[in-house]
Amino acid sequence: MVWKFRNFCENETAMTECHLLEKCGFFKHYASAKEIDCRQFIETYCRGPRMHECKRLQYLNQYGVPPSDYMQPDGTMVKESIHH
Ligand code: SF4
Repeated sequence: MVWKFRNFCENETAMTECHLLEKCGFFKHYASAKEIDCRQFIETYCRGPRMHECKRLQYLNQYGVPPSDYMQPDGTMVKESIHH
């Protein structure tokens, strides 16, 4: 019973947050960004229902290295005017 409860909790965590959150360059740069676009990406992908569709994850799986920190989860690039 205890095992089942723990397993349930771990699954819940996995469902609500990307497992690469701590290592992801995009997330590190933009987790506390004021720009609404970046915040929406994080809510939708990194901590949201579309995390498994993230193009950054697909890039990493395909090439074995992470993409530019400026690549957004939908595969487009962060506007140069808000690079930081
Ligand atoms: S941008 Fe993609 S790889 Fe990075 S934390 Fe968000 S969902 Fe995960």
